[in-house]
Amino acid sequence: LIIAKDLCKTFSNNSVQQHVLKNLNLEIHKGEFLVIMGNSGSGKSTLLYSLSGMDRITLGKIIYDGTEIQNYSDAKLCVFRGKNTGFVFQQNFLNDTLTVLDNVMVCGLLTHKNRKKLVQKVKTLLLHVGIKEEDFNKFPSQLSGGQKQRVAVVRGIINEPQVLFADEPTGALNSDNTEKLLDILTDMNEKGQTIVMVTHSVEAARRGDRVMYLEDGIIKDTIELGKYSKREKSVNKKLNHFLEE
Ligand code: ATP
Ligand code: MG
Repeated sequence: LIIAKDLCKTFSNNSVQQHVLKNLNLEIHKGEFLVIMGNSGSGKSTLLYSLSGMDRITLGKIIYDGTEIQNYSDAKLCVFRGKNTGFVFQQNFLNDTLTVLDNVMVCGLLTHKNRKKLVQKVKTLLLHVGIKEEDFNKFPSQLSGGQKQRVAVVRGIINEPQVLFADEPTGALNSDNTEKLLDILTDMNEKGQTIVMVTHSVEAARRGDRVMYLEDGIIKDTIELGKYSKREKSVNKKLNHFLEE
């Protein structure tokens, strides 16, 4: 689905060059739940921003279903992103001046022409992730952290993106809400949604089909968990090994 070829991302700060991603090659398969782990500063967020087209890459190629996107104009890239990718951040980044319903609506209008049908779809999805009807017209500030993050997930998938990117989506949640959010992502993935998620938590990483460990801008290690083995306890051991290194 997505191929990154010789991906390099370099930041220049006061004429000092920092090479954050170094010749990275990876392929994300359709329907896969890919997890990216790694120490703080290893380049995980930068990788997600690069893959999703949110940030320009320095060198290399990003190929979606055979189409290179790295040379798209800003306008074209923006439309491409809206239609093909969804993003969930650690801090939900909901618009505080819009209601829950409208936060998702404004995003959905990009690909839905029929407003009435869209409203129905948004409501169905919100209910599906456990947001109650009575909360639809509340503002984000009136919701709990877990609720906000679930709304952010619905916003992320409203345009049925080819891939949903999530950067530490459970980073700000307590264990109960973490579990709930991971169940929602797992459920979506089982229905075919491709997901790329960055996480620091072994519990979250276990939901993946494949876990990549990023170190200093390169992929240091990869483990395959597979659709069937990922709930087995032995997987924790392997993942913990990553974190102890
Ligand atoms: P964390 O786990 O803390 O979120 P990360 O693995 O997501 O870390 P990145 O945010 O990708 O790390 O950052 C990797 C490196 O790139 C850091 O050293 C950071 O300072 C640098 N960096 C990231 N974004 C920028 C930017 N916009 N301008 C300059 N340097 C940046
Ligand atoms: Mg990060």
